[in-house]
Amino acid sequence: MTANTQNDSSVASRYQHLLQQLRDEALKVGRDPASILLLAVSKTHGVDRIREAWHAGARDFGENYVQEALEKITALTPKSVSSTATAGPQTDSLAINWHFIGPVQSNKTRDIAGAFDWVHSVDRVKIARRLDEQRPANKAALNVCVQVNLSDEDTKSGVSLAETAALCQEISQMDRLVLRGLMAIPAVSSDYEQQRQTFRPLKELFDELRTRYATMDTLSIGMSGDFPAAIAEGATIIRIGTALFGQRGS
Ligand SMILES: *Cc1c(COP(=O)(O)O)cnc(C)c1O
Repeated sequence: MTANTQNDSSVASRYQHLLQQLRDEALKVGRDPASILLLAVSKTHGVDRIREAWHAGARDFGENYVQEALEKITALTPKSVSSTATAGPQTDSLAINWHFIGPVQSNKTRDIAGAFDWVHSVDRVKIARRLDEQRPANKAALNVCVQVNLSDEDTKSGVSLAETAALCQEISQMDRLVLRGLMAIPAVSSDYEQQRQTFRPLKELFDELRTRYATMDTLSIGMSGDFPAAIAEGATIIRIGTALFGQRGS
């Protein structure tokens, strides 16, 4: 991509630039830009970068690794429920919607259910059941997307297109989960038309499932390298890491 030309820019200016691109791409295909959320993918980046993006206007952040995420969430969350006697200044507390977007291991579901507002990467019923059981009673139901594998590579996470409807049906019965939509991470291609073609079957399935489930309103597709094509194919959340925060260290 063209990220190299922006290496010297601040997170704030990159955020504004990305919002402008989001608007331009939406208007180009006749969509309302307000119907698309820019999710700031902050994995591997520290809380200082998250603060920068927050002050630029970002309120939704995506993380892939549970332990790393929990540390950041703890550092950035209001501490009103814990000891108040020595509570320092609250200036570090940021209101953030946290999205888990990485592969979900079953021994991590309790941490995820306790700390996140969204999980984009549910790809089997066992994981959904655990999140449903472990979602704390004092929190709103957990927003979930079903991750679909569009590339049919054995190594990638995600349920096949053919099995997606059945998993959605199971999740729709779970009290502590809200079925919000579908997510995908397709194989990398630099060709815009190719990217659109890859997203298209997912968009078609999404439109069909929406007629069944009233809570379904989210198509989480598009990353730094393919978000214009994703917007053209109906993305409602684009997940942007590199183009916002720069290259990740190894
Ligand atoms: C890392 C990651 C992103 C962000 O990718 P970029 O190419 O850096 O924008 C988006 N979605 C998922 C699931 C990721 O793991």
